[in-house]
Amino acid sequence: MAKSSRRAFLSVTAAAAAAPLVAGEARAGGVAPSRELRAILREIDPRRIEAIVRKLVSFGTRHTLSSQDDPVRGIGAARDWIFAELQRYAATSNQRMTVELQSFVQPVSPRVPVPTTITNVIATLRGSVTPERTYVVTGHYDSRVTDVMDAVKDAPGADDDASGVAVAMELARVMATRRPEATIVFAAVAGEEQGLYGSDHMAQVYRDRGTDIQAMFSNDIVGTGDAHDGTRPANRTVRLFVEGVPTSETAAEATTRKSVGGENDGPSRQLGRFVKDVEPEGTDVRVIWRRDRYLRGSDHISFLLRGYPAARFTEPRENFAHEHQDVRVENGIQYGDLIEFCDFDYIARVARVNAAVLWSLAEAPGTPRGVVIDTTQLTNETTLRWELGTEPDLAGYEVVWRETTAPDWEHSRAVGKVTTVTIDLSKDNVFFGVRALDKDGHRSPVAAPKPSS
Ligand SMILES: [Zn+2]
Repeated sequence: MAKSSRRAFLSVTAAAAAAPLVAGEARAGGVAPSRELRAILREIDPRRIEAIVRKLVSFGTRHTLSSQDDPVRGIGAARDWIFAELQRYAATSNQRMTVELQSFVQPVSPRVPVPTTITNVIATLRGSVTPERTYVVTGHYDSRVTDVMDAVKDAPGADDDASGVAVAMELARVMATRRPEATIVFAAVAGEEQGLYGSDHMAQVYRDRGTDIQAMFSNDIVGTGDAHDGTRPANRTVRLFVEGVPTSETAAEATTRKSVGGENDGPSRQLGRFVKDVEPEGTDVRVIWRRDRYLRGSDHISFLLRGYPAARFTEPRENFAHEHQDVRVENGIQYGDLIEFCDFDYIARVARVNAAVLWSLAEAPGTPRGVVIDTTQLTNETTLRWELGTEPDLAGYEVVWRETTAPDWEHSRAVGKVTTVTIDLSKDNVFFGVRALDKDGHRSPVAAPKPSS
């Protein structure tokens, strides 16, 4: 369903079904951007994005095994430039943004022949209200050519993945002066092409610290809507890969899922639905219900492995002659990940999608916790329970539901600032979820209930 008609449908449904306990409550999806978000979207600048991509390409190669101390060429020079640039943005943040080099030594592994220092460059903008709640956006700054072990040849990596790094950095610049309620992390990770090593380390550090990451987005190959292969460009489309059954699902969780369903209600799927609700005008997120493309992966998988909701943005149609290829002309075809194939207006559009998503997540309450559906008795109604959120501007909750065969939420009911509700619909016949609202009408992603006594 088109966005406009879906929104209209939802507002009618909500008005009919709701006991309106939240002032001004009208819509259940399709959120108009706030004044501050509109300003953020305006400030995202294609020329700055171009400058970042050009600078990253200028290091010749950013291969993970390339020089760490040559000031001009190699991944070390790229690392130092990204760090300095992010520090410059952080200087405008009134101490709220901190920038770190997160280094570790990757032991010998299939694509790492000698122990190698890998460094993620991480800018953290501390939340002003609930700083423990964290959202993460990444691009990877390492690059490669045809031979994944070749650290010498030119590997411009303009699309893969200077484009994604430019998204994360431009968001850091624009948001540094602002005060999101939750914490937002903007990271350029490395070691991706050798085996997702940088993001793997980063996600594990967060897991070890018990960091509450409620969403993570990898931007990887977001350079153009034009595949340069004779097909029609799709300059407003960006794909979002979101898994269904969680990568981190335990055997016990699988047993429950096999019993009552829920393949389409993992936390990453809910994130995909949230993205569609807040995508800005002029962009079309094509949500794809799989973890990633065939034969490929990206840094979101490192977060999925640790049980964090995560997804991957990527351009609508790839040209594989422009990825992971030596720069060369063969049979009249230009191979290589060259900057001439990038469209900076397109990358800016992808950055705006990310901005709308991250800002909306950070301004809304966190995803409800401990949501359960009462399964102690055979009844033809549904009792849901959850934990009360701690956000000071928390206004209440909405219960959403849909036919089991429907892709997206179809109905919503505001239920007020409560932690349990009984709905006169059979839990056997529809899928339910719960989301939180704040006093400004910002909605959290939906949490699907687990069966509980
Ligand atoms: Zn990549």
